[in-house]
Amino acid sequence: MSDPTTLKDVYLDNNATTMVDPAVVEVMLPYFTEQYGNPSSIHSFGNQVGRSLKKARQQVQALLGVEHDSEIIFTSCGTESDSTAILSALKAQPERKEIITTVVEHPAVLSLCDYLEKDGYTVHKLKVDSKGRLDLDEYARILTERADHIAVVSVMWANNETGTIFPVEEMATMAADAEVMFHTDAVQAVGKIPMDLKNTDIDMLSLSGHKLHAPKGVGVLYLRRGTRYRPLLRGGHQERGRRAGTENMASIIALGKACELAAEKMAYENTEVKAMRDRLQEGILASVSHCFPTGDVENRLPNTCNIAFEYIEGEAILMLLNKAGIAASSGSACTSGSLEPSHVMMAMGIPYTAAHGTIRFSLSCYNTMDEMERVIEAVPSIVAQLRKLSPYWGEDGPIEDPEKLFAPTYA
Ligand SMILES: *Cc1c(COP(=O)(O)O)cnc(C)c1O
Repeated sequence: MSDPTTLKDVYLDNNATTMVDPAVVEVMLPYFTEQYGNPSSIHSFGNQVGRSLKKARQQVQALLGVEHDSEIIFTSCGTESDSTAILSALKAQPERKEIITTVVEHPAVLSLCDYLEKDGYTVHKLKVDSKGRLDLDEYARILTERADHIAVVSVMWANNETGTIFPVEEMATMAADAEVMFHTDAVQAVGKIPMDLKNTDIDMLSLSGHKLHAPKGVGVLYLRRGTRYRPLLRGGHQERGRRAGTENMASIIALGKACELAAEKMAYENTEVKAMRDRLQEGILASVSHCFPTGDVENRLPNTCNIAFEYIEGEAILMLLNKAGIAASSGSACTSGSLEPSHVMMAMGIPYTAAHGTIRFSLSCYNTMDEMERVIEAVPSIVAQLRKLSPYWGEDGPIEDPEKLFAPTYA
């Protein structure tokens, strides 16, 4: 949708964060100037802002297919929504001390679960197969055996690294049948795949503004009517007492608008953006040897592809891509900086020699097909350049010397 004639940097890191849509910036600006009222105030300054708050809530409702406006709680980010959901489930059901989640969650869920484990809770982490798919039989077994002990199931709707989509609607129904609460971290899925929450058994859902062209620092927790709940932040009566703190009005207005635009662009995302992603993947696989897409490519977000380039380092690829004016990501931004490959790649059993070289390309509606061609042209020489330096790569391909393959460090 952007002007393809200007040769600007190519941004393919939209699962890390997105550009704020110019139309979103426009609607939020008045909330820094004239519209500075507190929505709780009983005067015209407050009333006007209060009406806008209501409208933003309706815009979120429409995108998610939510029936009651009381089911939308504005928060400060996806992480806060995840923490609130899980901690609320534990607080509201103190007799239940177990959680079901997966090994491939975002750190916003996994780190919290690790902390809770140290605090005496039991966390069942569902494993994935080599394509990143969950084993629903294992899930059913734990649900049945531990039903009375499980406080909450928390499974992401789509994985941020591979784009793999999980069958959360089916899993929520299984949880409901076992009378267990179900939460989904839908931060990556909202706006990319259609949702109709009123016709699901999902009790709680997290989303984040900055992953769908709204600013950083605003999120939503969807809380189904009748779901037992304990607030994380107590104080004023904002959000019906379920999330105290004066509303971040400019960002909430922005998120509402971004949800409205996401609904309008959903079809484009699943046709044009998907076509660009498919062309990018196909172009790279056709011109580079020893690389493969990771995750469940059949059930994947339309904007994401994650490619493992064997025998080279993801960080090095990123640096050279960056030099060529292309922004992507290796592993997840939250785990990079460590030498370990991402927990998602390890969970799928991707060999070390490939897991170290995974690159995530995540698109948005602002990308163009011309940009994909630029990336397809740049990648082969970057990979060749790095393989020349790789101790695992010889004259005519990988060196099949196990001692070298498992050498602890690069020469
Ligand atoms: C980005 C992300 C989060 C965290 O959202 P913030 O608003 O940055 O706190 C949580 N879960 C997933 C899957 C994400 O991609």
